[in-house]
Amino acid sequence: MKDSTVANTTAASSAEADYDAIIIGAGFSGLGMLHHLNQLGLRSRVFDAATGVGGTWYWNRYPGARTDSEFYYYAFSFSREVREEWKWNERYPSQPEVLRYLEFVAKKLDLYKDITFNTKITRAKYDEDNNLWHVTTASGDTFTARYLVSGMGALSAPSRPDIKGVSSFKGEIYQTATWPKEGADLAGKRVGLIGVGASGVQIVPVIAPIVKDLYVLQRTPNYVVASSNYEVNEDWMNEIRKDYDNIHKQATSHGFAVPFKKPVVGAKDVSPDERERIFEDGWKEGGFHFMLETFNDLALDEESNAYASDFIRRKIRETVKDAATAELLCPKDYPFNGKRPPGGHGYYEAYNRQNVHLVDIRQNGIDEVTETGVRIGDRHIELDVLIFATGFDAMTGTLTRIDIVGRDGLVLRDKWKDGLKTNMGIAVNGFPNFFMILGPQTPYANLPVAIQEAVGWVSRAIAFADANGIRCMESTVEAEDAWAAEVHRAGSATIMAKGAGAHAWFLGANIPGKPTEFNVYMGGADVYLKRCEDIASNGFVGFHEGALTTC
Ligand code: NAP
Repeated sequence: MKDSTVANTTAASSAEADYDAIIIGAGFSGLGMLHHLNQLGLRSRVFDAATGVGGTWYWNRYPGARTDSEFYYYAFSFSREVREEWKWNERYPSQPEVLRYLEFVAKKLDLYKDITFNTKITRAKYDEDNNLWHVTTASGDTFTARYLVSGMGALSAPSRPDIKGVSSFKGEIYQTATWPKEGADLAGKRVGLIGVGASGVQIVPVIAPIVKDLYVLQRTPNYVVASSNYEVNEDWMNEIRKDYDNIHKQATSHGFAVPFKKPVVGAKDVSPDERERIFEDGWKEGGFHFMLETFNDLALDEESNAYASDFIRRKIRETVKDAATAELLCPKDYPFNGKRPPGGHGYYEAYNRQNVHLVDIRQNGIDEVTETGVRIGDRHIELDVLIFATGFDAMTGTLTRIDIVGRDGLVLRDKWKDGLKTNMGIAVNGFPNFFMILGPQTPYANLPVAIQEAVGWVSRAIAFADANGIRCMESTVEAEDAWAAEVHRAGSATIMAKGAGAHAWFLGANIPGKPTEFNVYMGGADVYLKRCEDIASNGFVGFHEGALTTC
């Protein structure tokens, strides 16, 4: 998707608005959106609750936090200056490195002047009479804008289970998603960790050598795919610099928005020896390469998927010396891809340490947190520190935890109570001139590439509206119904549909009371982006016709 030319007319009323656009969030989405709107010559303001840019990479400062995607497709490619000057250091960049990158992006693209930090948005209300959004901060200030864009993130509303007695704990409590900026001193302490998703899996091997004892309280084991990390030297970086456009193009024609080769055979279609060789090669390459570059049917075919699941279980048993621990670490009642597979950096190896103890809480759960630890059935584990790596109210949480109020007082969280309805995950009927970057029902994909495409598309939509005198960009009901049906159809055809019992966040199944349905589009980022392009080239069909007569 290309950027539009500068808008030459202003359709929605702007004279009385404080800004043309208000963007919530200063992570990848907010920064990318701001830059694109600045290119259009619009007056925009970003608000963020944090003291700096970064979004996810600002908050998730837990030890071991790093990307599961490699550096060359975990970046924006739209700015020549950024591409040419920025040097990545690690194949899988660490949290401090990604944060430095986003700070660099904000500085290079001159974005800081348009960002207000330390400012949490609590409410955004559409004013039908004036066709403006009124956006209110936690301290009660209100600003108006013609357009409202959420860049609040897909996995940014932390979730912490309500476990009896937590407030009585006399030790320290941390949550990976809100790790203190000053760090946490875990040295020599008895640490309990709840959660073995991507966050928990990263923290284990990094803190294991530091703490006195680490108790990993595991409910559902994960299929953790080894990822080998290494330095990015100057030659590699230079090759990537020359190739950014091509890398991005390749990524946008891939189902997971990564610049990978697409495998042409299924796992069940080759001989056992050939299958083993291909899996082994994918495992050595690591991370998403195993999931995406080995066979073309691991997310679609149960028999093929079973071969992959079994291969990983064999790797776990080979790595973990204690047989009982290895068995507990092996997922058995849901398939590989039933949850988002985390990348591991010495995760299984950490269980060979004497001070790392795997505690099975599947049957009993944690009965209570006491003043000095946790009680699980008859067992009491004494702890100095308790860490929650318990995930997020994904895709919708940021949007439903604040009041986003559309036409006729309709609140977004109420609209979605009985099921998600969006147009391509970007816009919602009843919420004119409101756009979401990484909204629910956008693709399950490598996010920086998805974000770059999304901010380009939204800026084109805004330029289109302004150039064509369209006062309201508002999805039609029909387009939303069609997209909801497609999201359901595509998701149901995948192995991911089996993730409900394993509490997969992409199904909303990790949050008690949240309807279980596909919160992301599983039909492929490539298919999705093609559909977005078709919509844009057809005058943003489905994104404004419903509103023309009422705005
Ligand atoms: P997650 O995958 O949702 O994992 C949450 C963990 O907390 C699960 O092990 C879950 O157990 C456990 N948990 C939740 N409530 C519990 C309870 N009441 N008792 C015991 N255990 C409980 O969350 P995450 O690890 O933060 O990762 C979420 C997503 O964020 C990832 O899938 C990924 O997309 C993204 N992420 C990416 C990276 C990266 O790319 N490097 C790093 C971190 C996060 P159950 O499985 O039994 O529910």
